[in-house]
Amino acid sequence: MSPFTRNKTESVGALGERRLIEKIRGWLGNATLPAPYGIGDDCAVLPPSKKQQVVTVDPVIYRRHFDDRATPAEVGAKLLKRNLSDLAAMGAVPTAAVLALAIGANLRTAWLEGFYRGLATTSRRYRVPIVGGDIAQAEGALTASLTLIGRAAGKRVVTRSGARIGDWIYVTGQLGGSLLGHHLRFTPRLSEGVWLAAQKDVRALMDVSDGLAKDLYSLVPSGARPQLRSDAIPVSRGAQKLAARDQRPAVDHAVSDGEDYELVCAVSGRADRERFESAWARHFRTRLTCIGRFVRIDTPVSAGEVNLGNLHGYEHLR
Ligand SMILES: [Mg+2]
Repeated sequence: MSPFTRNKTESVGALGERRLIEKIRGWLGNATLPAPYGIGDDCAVLPPSKKQQVVTVDPVIYRRHFDDRATPAEVGAKLLKRNLSDLAAMGAVPTAAVLALAIGANLRTAWLEGFYRGLATTSRRYRVPIVGGDIAQAEGALTASLTLIGRAAGKRVVTRSGARIGDWIYVTGQLGGSLLGHHLRFTPRLSEGVWLAAQKDVRALMDVSDGLAKDLYSLVPSGARPQLRSDAIPVSRGAQKLAARDQRPAVDHAVSDGEDYELVCAVSGRADRERFESAWARHFRTRLTCIGRFVRIDTPVSAGEVNLGNLHGYEHLR
């Protein structure tokens, strides 16, 4: 569905701000809370937390993160899920979200309804209330930016720093080919992130949003480089399909397509890997794959290694 319409009666411009906000409240239903804990006061009030708190923000922008092929409900769901993936990447769970919209008056009301209903469904599924927001008018625009607040699930949050030379590199799920639909239909790895953060051998953790080839560099300890085994990379069927189309190796797609929303972590080189992997398998059906390790930067590149040199993933502002 195209988000915009030439027919004024079908547009949000015909509603006006007050009626639009009433409608939004209805679309969200019990995905929001009564004021002052939800929409309706100057601020939303949050419960106190004894745990460390985390906050993240990510937008979805028309023609950047989605186009007319995506249903509005998928766009609303994606917006929340990509922020949830960032929480998962620290071993945190969500507390509350606020939404800032910049939209043109010619935005289709039906599109916005679908968007909010998709957002509400996802918010109920992951038990995160949408507690507030703002709507700004910007001609021709359709940008939705969601700020998500969360808290540590256990004793600690896991950051990107902490990996050491010799640590193993693990990744959840399968990589690549997100363009064929995964970028809308992924499941944020929240419970996996919580579990990983509770394992003392997990030293660093992040989610894969721009592609492993690029994102992994945030985990590399100083004086090290990632050594990845080509045959160990879990290649998705989507990546295989794209590879058949464009004659590039499927592994290239797996490490550079991006929007995987899987987790990648560094596990202590001294960890009992068999125990770690079997404990994982008792909790999750999601795959967890050891794809390599961090080696000293002067370690020669060996046969069967992924050449990360010319695979950069998605780089913003380039
Ligand atoms: Mg991230």
